[in-house]
Amino acid sequence: MNSQSAALKVLMVEDSPADADLILHSLRDLPCPVEHALVASEAALREALASFDPDIILSDFSMPGFSGQEALSIASEHAPDVPFLFVSGTIGEELAIATLQRGAIDYVLKDNLRRLPLAIERALDIARNRRERAQMERALRESEERFRTIVENSQDWIWESDQSTRTLYSNGAIARILGYAPDELLGTLASEHMLPEDRRMMEERLPRLAAEARGWERWRLRWRHRDGSVRVLESTAIPRMDENGEVVGFRSIDHDITEHLQQEAKIAQLARIHAVLSALGSAILRTRERQLLLDRVCRIAVEQGGFKAACIGLATEETGLRLAASHGDPDVIAYIARLSEQPPVRVRTGIRALRGGKPVIVGDIGRSKLEPVLRDALLQVGVAAQVVLPIGTPPWAVLGLFSVAAQEFDKDELGLLVRLAHEIDYAVDFIAKSERLEYLAYHNPVTDLPNQIAFQQEVAARLAQGPLLVAVVELASSGRIIESRGREFGEGVLRMVGQRLQAEVGPSVIVAHPGEYSFLLAKSVLGSVQQEIESLGALLRALDDAPYEIEDEQVFLHLNCGVALSPEHGTDGETLERNATVALGEALKRKTRIEPFNEGLHERATRRIELERDLHRAFAENEFELWYQPKFNAVDQRLLGAEALLRWRHPQAGLVSPAEFIPVLEDTGLIVQAGRWVMRTALDTVLAWRALGHAGLRIAVNVSARELRNLRFLDECRDLLEPHAADQLLDIEVTESLLMDDIEHSIRLLQSLRAMGCRIAIDDFGTGYSSLNYLARLPVDVIKIDQSFTAQLAHSPETMGLITNIISLAHSLSLKVVAEGVEEEEQAKLLRLLRCDELQGYLLGRPMPATQFAERLL
Ligand code: C2E
Ligand code: CA
Ligand code: CA
Repeated sequence: MNSQSAALKVLMVEDSPADADLILHSLRDLPCPVEHALVASEAALREALASFDPDIILSDFSMPGFSGQEALSIASEHAPDVPFLFVSGTIGEELAIATLQRGAIDYVLKDNLRRLPLAIERALDIARNRRERAQMERALRESEERFRTIVENSQDWIWESDQSTRTLYSNGAIARILGYAPDELLGTLASEHMLPEDRRMMEERLPRLAAEARGWERWRLRWRHRDGSVRVLESTAIPRMDENGEVVGFRSIDHDITEHLQQEAKIAQLARIHAVLSALGSAILRTRERQLLLDRVCRIAVEQGGFKAACIGLATEETGLRLAASHGDPDVIAYIARLSEQPPVRVRTGIRALRGGKPVIVGDIGRSKLEPVLRDALLQVGVAAQVVLPIGTPPWAVLGLFSVAAQEFDKDELGLLVRLAHEIDYAVDFIAKSERLEYLAYHNPVTDLPNQIAFQQEVAARLAQGPLLVAVVELASSGRIIESRGREFGEGVLRMVGQRLQAEVGPSVIVAHPGEYSFLLAKSVLGSVQQEIESLGALLRALDDAPYEIEDEQVFLHLNCGVALSPEHGTDGETLERNATVALGEALKRKTRIEPFNEGLHERATRRIELERDLHRAFAENEFELWYQPKFNAVDQRLLGAEALLRWRHPQAGLVSPAEFIPVLEDTGLIVQAGRWVMRTALDTVLAWRALGHAGLRIAVNVSARELRNLRFLDECRDLLEPHAADQLLDIEVTESLLMDDIEHSIRLLQSLRAMGCRIAIDDFGTGYSSLNYLARLPVDVIKIDQSFTAQLAHSPETMGLITNIISLAHSLSLKVVAEGVEEEEQAKLLRLLRCDELQGYLLGRPMPATQFAERLL
């Protein structure tokens, strides 16, 4: 009936159709159309209530077989909200009142139907009001119900208290949050369950809040759970008032944020460790020194990582720890420092991490199983949690992190911390490697002495300070002996020499080791130059005299030394070193201990350089010639063959003596090339001679040390000589000293040459090691007595005796003896007497070109 157009549905309980018409007629005055149903029995009424669904019921009071009273009770039962009006003849006043009491809304007399439309409108109003109120009441009930359910089932703790937090109501959440049943709390002070500090704060503020009729908002209060743990609740409350507006207490809702806070703390912790890692990353890039890096790590851990203190302990030999770096709270550090001085007992977390190689974590020191002494000491300096991380595998250090708050370290955090340890390890390794590289750039790796670059830098700095002596010291002849003993032995010797040199000359002298067997010294010239050289010579002599103890063996070494002085011999380091090296060359040649540089040497050195250049050219220009000196049978003077001797026809200087250029060929390695040429040329020559009908002639070629050591020497000989192995044409002359360097190798080599049909002659016999005792072991055929013996033969009985012995010894070993340098008839005669086998010398024939040889002798 809300809209004007909707029809008002009227149910009439009326037995008289005429009355019904009258009633309907009276309803024309209503502002809306009317739809009606008419019933006159109980059954029909029930049916109509269900099917017609009336807006209003108009009922007669008395009908035959059915009464208005009955209709009223049926209607109020089945359609209590539909307004019920009596439209009837007169009934008594009392009855009328009774019907109204039983639910009828109004009573209209049939003879006053004009009132009916108004009565109906009023009844509809009343009914509507009733319905609305009922609806509101229902809604209110529902709402209350809803709130009660919400409160009861809330995860938050909802509670009411009086002004002093005495609990009047508590929902069930308290059981979950603090472990108490709501009943247990009622009547008690809630604040009793707060941590003392928070309780004090609460109690202080409550009176004021009550006075000002204020609650509180989002207070973070810490409560003690029944199990002893601490819970943080975020509390919001409003004041409760009585009717007079007086505050009688508070109604509070508390949200448990304990886990949230833990989560937050963990995230913050992770963020801090991340920050540490990234800060460390950039520190690694910037830091080039280990100690600095360790210091930085500790500082970063404290400043970025929020730790109270951090320290790094390095593993000691006794598998203890030595405090190497620290940062943060001085009390904590003092404690750690004290601890690292004590014996490394296993109970200490640092030692455990070091030896176990795994992180040791004490999340809550107060509740830990740490040794009481350690635990108390840590608590006393305000440390509540500790992590110790081993660094490196196996660990060479540990990183200790100390924090003020107890905290759990979960997998994520631990992962980050372990990464942190890895980063430190990596960084330190990186630094060590770069330090090593840097070190190697300026040091000799064998002796750890400065290398040549470092030496030159030092010399450059010293030169400005006054006169300087630069010396090159070399273990000359000893070098090869050392070499034959293997690298390790050799390096041991060099280390000892370096140490001794350094110890003898003292710290004011720069000692360097550029490599191999040479050392460099630089010393300020304080006294006279002569004095300086003499004292250096004396020092070297002292070193030579004292043997070196190496591998239970006494080794005597011999040092040679060349000296150059600034400013006389050069004003820069390189010139001084070069000139000292030239002087050393002179010392080696003259077999003196110490030799100062002089201009003569300089010239020679320059000449030497020119010589080298010229020799290179000589090969290209075919300036070499091979000359031949005849050898004769000592008894019958028969020509046996020749020795091939190398000559160099220099375009300007003419013929150059081999004594001058052979050493240079050897030093430069050109000798290998030269030797090959000599052998091939000699072979061609002897083949040519044989072709002339001189069967049995042989040519001897000289082979130098450098050639013999060449790995390809034997192969090249084989290519050349093997085809003639059956009737060999060439002999080989080698010097004795050369063979003694490496006896075993020499023996194998000579055997191979012999297998190719060569005879082996030992040249210059008697000048070198005079190792007659080795002679028996060497596969040789001939010894050549050095020309110095031949020269003295006629004048020195000792020499005669010596030669006699050599010859008889050689013969007893079935060796042939050749005498070199026979210049006088007298010598030839004596040698014949001494039963020397062959003679060679100017007396019998000088070296000459092949053509001349053929013309004169063949
Ligand atoms: P060596 O093998 O002892 O050669 C003998 C040297 O004595 C030759 O000097 C020869 O000319 C010289 N000589 C010969 N008879 C007499 C004499 O009666 N009196 C004097 N005073 N000297 C005599 P040369 O030709 O100057 O050679 C010097 C050294 O150069 C040789 O000494 C040899 O060690 C080396 N040599 C020469 N040619 C070659 C070569 O092709 N290869 C190699 N590796 N070394 C060579
Ligand atoms: Ca020779
Ligand atoms: Ca000789």
